[in-house]
Amino acid sequence: MYEIPFLRPKLVEKEAYADYFRQIDDSRIYTNYGTLNTLFEQRLLHELFRNKGSAVTVNNATTGLMLAISLTKRRGKYALMPSFTFAATPLAAMWCGLEPYFIDIRPNDWCMDEELLKHELDKLGDEVAVVVPYAAFGTNMDISGYQSLQERGIPVVIDAAASVGSTLDGHFGQGFEGTVVFSFHATKGFGIGEGGLIYSADRPVIDALRQMANFGFDVERDSRQIGLNGKLSEYAAAIGLATLQAYEQKKGRRERVYGWYMEELAEAGLPDQGWTLQDVRGTVAQSFFSMLCPAASCNLDVVRMLAAHGIQSRTYFAPSCHQQTLFQSCPSTSMTVTEQIGSRIVNLPLWEDMNRSQVSKVVRCLRHG
Ligand SMILES: *Cc1c(COP(=O)(O)O)cnc(C)c1O
Repeated sequence: MYEIPFLRPKLVEKEAYADYFRQIDDSRIYTNYGTLNTLFEQRLLHELFRNKGSAVTVNNATTGLMLAISLTKRRGKYALMPSFTFAATPLAAMWCGLEPYFIDIRPNDWCMDEELLKHELDKLGDEVAVVVPYAAFGTNMDISGYQSLQERGIPVVIDAAASVGSTLDGHFGQGFEGTVVFSFHATKGFGIGEGGLIYSADRPVIDALRQMANFGFDVERDSRQIGLNGKLSEYAAAIGLATLQAYEQKKGRRERVYGWYMEELAEAGLPDQGWTLQDVRGTVAQSFFSMLCPAASCNLDVVRMLAAHGIQSRTYFAPSCHQQTLFQSCPSTSMTVTEQIGSRIVNLPLWEDMNRSQVSKVVRCLRHG
């Protein structure tokens, strides 16, 4: 047991959703896009996306990625994506019969390098079935380039698993005509246990995804397209509704902890010693606090040092996908930046009820080693 664990998820408590659970008992509707799920989708669209676009819930983001890739991919064999992401991204592509093709990331925002991507797209042409960027750690990456790809007929599915609550002139992904997949996993900023959301400004795409996530059935329950069961239960939707009501407060708590980190880091002078933050824009919903250790140090030493002080930390996403057994044989560009960042990334604890002295202790340990 660590004195300061990396994550300490805290979901809404049962009192917050008791009334919704009572409604389920009364209605005896437990799933299949029931009343509460419909309400949850409507409120998410209204409160997060200002009623622009459409969205459908899914039982988790991995299923959401599989469905979105399967529906929108064109002929071709490759899914172009960063290697600096969670294994779910390449796995989802593989479930759709595609081969992940890894593209290096940019050193500043840790997202897929769009110059390299363009080069590979020109080279691979029709062999590219889909492009799957990842908004690294919930960042509001610029999606205008991906919007252009989508308009040019190259489908784009954004892995925005950690981006619920990230805003910059509106919520991340708002208005995007490809698909954007969010996660409600317990460890994410908007945690309900298991769940996810697929968003698109393209209404027919969301309608088709809703059918796909219900065995591909049309209104006559005739299976017309490939599908699976990707639905969110009414119980999960109930917890989602309660989470939405508490969300501003929950988000505020994380922002406060983030603010303490920024103050303590500046006071400790760590930025002058080579500790580097991700270049981000707008407000990012933080699931943890990510930093690069100085280039001369190794992140694994930092993780060990912190552990010796009772502090748990991680090195997401290192080893990166291209270094993992299943994906080692996948084609890729040079992985120079991914590997540099992978040897420096340290993810520090950041959870809702973390207090200032815990943040001070983490920063003090980073400073004195
Ligand atoms: C969490 C995460 C996922 C998977 O989300 P689930 O809802 O757990 O399936 C996919 N991609 C990335 C980048 C993630 O961080």
